[in-house]
Amino acid sequence: MTAISHSRQSAPRLASALLVARGPLVGALAYLIGAESAFLVGTLSDQIFAPFWPPNVILFGALLLAPTSRWWLYILAALPAHVIAELHVGMAPLPMAVAFATNCAIALISAFAVRRLVAEAPRLGTLKKAAIYVLVTALVSPAVVALGGAFVPILGGAEGNYLIAWTQWFLSNSLGFLTLGPIFLTWFGESPRAWSMFSTARWVEAAVIAATLVVVSALAFHLAAGTVEVGFMPALLYAPLPLILWAALRFGEKGASGAILVVTVVLLSLALNHSSLFVASDPERNVVALQIFLIALAVPVLLLGATIDEVRRAEAATRESETRMQFAAASANIGLWSFERASGRVWATAHCRSLLGLAPDAPLSREIMLQSMHPDDRDAAVEAMRSAAYAGEDVTHEFRLLLPDGGVRWVRVRARADRDDTGAPFRVSGVFIDITSVKVAEQEADMQRRELAHLMRVSVMGELSGAMAHELNQPLTAILSNAEATRLLLARPSPDLAEIGDAVGDIVQESRRAGDVIARLRSLLKKDARPPEQIDLNALTRSSLDLLHSELIARRFRAELRLAPDLPPAFGDAVQLQQVVLNLVMNAMDAMAATPLPQRTITIDTRLLGAGALEVGVLDRGPGLGRTAQARAFEPFFTTKPEGLGLGLSICSTIVGAHGGQLALVNDPDGGARASFSLPVRHMAVAAK
Ligand code: ADP
Repeated sequence: MTAISHSRQSAPRLASALLVARGPLVGALAYLIGAESAFLVGTLSDQIFAPFWPPNVILFGALLLAPTSRWWLYILAALPAHVIAELHVGMAPLPMAVAFATNCAIALISAFAVRRLVAEAPRLGTLKKAAIYVLVTALVSPAVVALGGAFVPILGGAEGNYLIAWTQWFLSNSLGFLTLGPIFLTWFGESPRAWSMFSTARWVEAAVIAATLVVVSALAFHLAAGTVEVGFMPALLYAPLPLILWAALRFGEKGASGAILVVTVVLLSLALNHSSLFVASDPERNVVALQIFLIALAVPVLLLGATIDEVRRAEAATRESETRMQFAAASANIGLWSFERASGRVWATAHCRSLLGLAPDAPLSREIMLQSMHPDDRDAAVEAMRSAAYAGEDVTHEFRLLLPDGGVRWVRVRARADRDDTGAPFRVSGVFIDITSVKVAEQEADMQRRELAHLMRVSVMGELSGAMAHELNQPLTAILSNAEATRLLLARPSPDLAEIGDAVGDIVQESRRAGDVIARLRSLLKKDARPPEQIDLNALTRSSLDLLHSELIARRFRAELRLAPDLPPAFGDAVQLQQVVLNLVMNAMDAMAATPLPQRTITIDTRLLGAGALEVGVLDRGPGLGRTAQARAFEPFFTTKPEGLGLGLSICSTIVGAHGGQLALVNDPDGGARASFSLPVRHMAVAAK
């Protein structure tokens, strides 16, 4: 291997090693700066013990950011920083080692516990998470680690007992984790986006609060210091509280932790470097008292900040989900509304207003809503919505809205009652769904269905035309011969008036017969929609057979009628139902085209089925349905006839379905097939609109 290739390979290795070392090195530097700033804030009389000790929290923060597998690197890098800082204040090697071990221990325990217990950012985002953080890092872990840390001053030869040393270690670490820890977690633990959302005005406000806090804390200290014997006013120490609360309320946990840090640094540095606050000339006890005061202040303020963040986040989430829901509803052409029954207040989404034809921010009241309904539909719609208040389930109803431009919009309303604790409905809320396009499509489909049915009728007429011509021919021939006979009678010298009268009577009768045939044809060929009416199915069957009369004779079929007496009426479009009967009888004739003459009987019956339904059946003695025809006879364009269209049964089934009934075609056990359709007795739903 050449020297060049060796250096080429080692360059990336060096770069990646530097990358790995970067975190621990930055951590170590921060550790050193933290220690130096602690000494800047102040130490106790032994010049070694700093009551506010940031390095542990800095190490904790660095460990939180680093993968667990590299924690040892961070600890290793912090060692020289620790030695430099402690040598600076002249600490002996043994206490220095114990101090480092305890510092590492508290950082490790806290980082491990926080990672485990409050795994997800924001780590101080809820009251529960903040409480866990306080409990672990400001109570349990400093209490445990102080058991070792308390040896540091004793090993250093300082006087004093173990309990006091433990208290000092406990308090300074607890305070550190209450002031700097939250700063680390909230200021650096979130995405940079959280900061970029801060406007300049917010930054200015934060700076003003911080500066005012410094001034107020310092003033409070100076006014209270040394006045224990001569009118000490503890209330003065609470002077910064309104500012702290302001910071917490406006900036949540960020503001709360920042404010606590400012007050802690100011009060502690003044207590360590200036006059005694509580007890004259005893800095140790003064500082302990101040630490306890600051810890007692920090805990509720941090919990408050976290609660405020939690509430704000919940509010934002609610707002967001509401916006999303409204967006989704608007995209689906759905308007949301609610109506407070006691106050009469109406709430509606912007899209709901636009469905009603109102401006998005137009005022809305019950009256305005009622006014936008089509006058013909208003009463039924109001009744439906009112019934929603008392119905145990959702109520749906369809009605028209009359738009300001004169247009009409179809909506389906779905409403439900919101009930209070006593079960009384206090609000009706629901949705308006725009179904105009569905209605238009339905109307179009209906029209097409009618067109098709009409075309089929015309085609049936085409098939019947030969027989019809023949049927018309009979009365016309009779009329002609009677007319000629009349002329001959009139030509006689003494015409027999009685005979002439008979001939003219015959002419009238035959003309009526011909007129009836034409009237039946015309009604069948009519295209217009007719209002639904009561239908006597027996009469309908008879008149259908009248139409088929000549065809039956021409094709040499016999029709046998078995009509149930006293049949209740059906309801619907007589022409369409007649078309069904015609179709079924013509299918029966087609099926029996090859049947020997003696068996060529078509039996048509009507009957009352149970459950208020009527049935018309057409029975033939043809070959019956093959397997394919059984499965597919109702499919459009399915036919087994050389000249068939395959539309008859499909159209008949649509017609019967629209009348609320059902069409069936089955093989008869005695041979042949039986086609039948059922209809409800006086079915009110207007089938043939
Ligand atoms: P088309 O009469 O033009 O064939 P239809 O929809 O009326 O159309 O009938 C579809 C098919 O159903 C027929 O081609 C035939 O095969 C079968 N079918 C209908 N009625 C009967 C019947 N009474 N007996 C046997 N097969 C029938």
